[in-house]
Amino acid sequence: MKFKIILYECDKSQKINWYLSSEHTLACRVPLSFMLGQDTTHETICDLVRREGGAIYKYLQVLNKGYYLTNKFKYVGVEYSNKSKHKNKIILDNLLEGLFLANYEFNRHKTNFKGTAFNISTTFNNPINSASIIGACIARDLVNEPLSHLNAVKLSVVLKKLAKKSGFHLEVLNEKKIKDLKMGGVLSVNKGSIAKPTFNILTYKSKKSKRKNPIVLVGKGVMYDTGGLSLKPTPNSMDMMKCDMGGAAAVIGAIYALALSKSNCYVVGLIPAVENRPGGEAYVPGDVITMMDGSTVEVLNTDAEGRLILADALHYAKRYKPELVIDLATLTGAAARTTGKCGLVAMENYRKEIFTDFSDHMQELIKSGNIVGERIVVQPFWDDYKDELKSSIADIKNLGGPEAGHITAGKFLEYFVDYPWIHLDIAGAAFLQQDYLYHKTGGTGVGVRLLVNFLINNN
Ligand SMILES: [Zn+2]
Repeated sequence: MKFKIILYECDKSQKINWYLSSEHTLACRVPLSFMLGQDTTHETICDLVRREGGAIYKYLQVLNKGYYLTNKFKYVGVEYSNKSKHKNKIILDNLLEGLFLANYEFNRHKTNFKGTAFNISTTFNNPINSASIIGACIARDLVNEPLSHLNAVKLSVVLKKLAKKSGFHLEVLNEKKIKDLKMGGVLSVNKGSIAKPTFNILTYKSKKSKRKNPIVLVGKGVMYDTGGLSLKPTPNSMDMMKCDMGGAAAVIGAIYALALSKSNCYVVGLIPAVENRPGGEAYVPGDVITMMDGSTVEVLNTDAEGRLILADALHYAKRYKPELVIDLATLTGAAARTTGKCGLVAMENYRKEIFTDFSDHMQELIKSGNIVGERIVVQPFWDDYKDELKSSIADIKNLGGPEAGHITAGKFLEYFVDYPWIHLDIAGAAFLQQDYLYHKTGGTGVGVRLLVNFLINNN
C-alpha cells in the first residue's frame, strides 16, 4: 500500500502546515512560490521545509504502527497538487531531503531485524541533492561503525570500494610511507595502538574543471579516542568515542557525492587515520615530538591528539598550493559547549584582528550552512590566544589554558598553515544521543551537505 504526500501552496503569511486528508494521504502546505536567492532571509526556508520532512516522517511512523496490518504502508510518494500553480523543485527536494535523512537506519549489527524504514519513491529533481544525501548517509554509517569493525586499515579498504563506485582517485599511504614522510604527529598518536595508521588521499577533478589548484579538505580520522595515557574518565565519556572520525567521515561523504554526481570541481581530501590508546609504546605527557614540517611539539595532554594528526595533514596540503583548505574535526569539548548540537564553530586566518570582517570563502560557507541546515558560528581568532601555546622546551605545546579551548586548538593548527584556511570544529553536531530533527541517534553526517553545497557554488 502506498502513502501520498500532496504539496499545496501556502501564502507567505502562513506557516508551513500539514494534516491527514484521508487514510493514506497527507496534505502539506509549503511556500511553493519561494525562489532561492530572492533575499538572504529565505535561506532558512530550505531548512524549515527539510525539518517538516523529518517531522512528517516521525508522524507517518506512528500512524503506520497504529494501522491494521492490511492498511499498513511501505511506500511513500510526494507529488504536487494539480491545484498548485508553482512546481517548486527546491521546496520539493528539501522536503525529500528531510524525509530521506529521517528515514535512515543503522541496523547492520542486528540479527533478524526487520527495518521500519519507508520506501520513498519520488526522486530528487537535482541529482546533486540525492548524491549529497547518499554521501551524508555514508558518513553516518562510518561514524556509527564501531572500532571492532572499522579501524584505520579497514577504513582504507572501505575507501577503495567507495572510490570505485563513485569515481574519485584514492592513494593510501601505509605506515612505512608515513614513516618515510616523517609524520611525527600521526605516528606519535598511534604509538599506543596495535593497529597501523593510514594516510588517505582522495582526489576528484571533473573533466570540466579549469582549476589549477584544488580546494583541499582535511578530516580528523581518530578511529577511536581513549585519550591515550591522559585517559578519559570511564563513566560515559568514552562511550561515543568511535565518533572521533566524524571529520574524516564528512570529507569522505562529500567527495563521494561530488564524484558520484560528476560535479564540476577540483577537490583533494586528506585523511590521517589513527587510534589513540594507552599502551606500552604510547606517547606520554611531557614528550617532545617532531612533526612532519620539522617543528617540535611538547605534548602536555595525550587527549589533545586530533590537532597533532591534523597538523601533519595541514602541512602535507602545502604541496597542492591550495586555493583554500577546510579542515573538519570533532576537536574540542569547548566547541561542543559553544553550539551544542545546533551548529558548528568556525575560525579562519583572514584579517583575524578585525573580527567583523570575514573572507569571501567564509561568507559563502556561512550561506551554504544556512541553506543545508548546518549553521556556522565564526569565532574570534585573535593572536592573543596563540600566546597560550608557548612551550618552555619546544617550539609550541599542544595545549592552551582552560578557557576558549576550541580557539587555542585552532591556533595550534594555524601554526602549520601558510594558505587561506578555514577550521570547522564539529564536535557538537557530529554525534547525537537522541533523535533530533531529521537526524537519528548516532552519527549525523554533518559537514557533507555543507561541503557539497559550498564546493558546487565555488567551482
Ligand atoms: Zn582526544
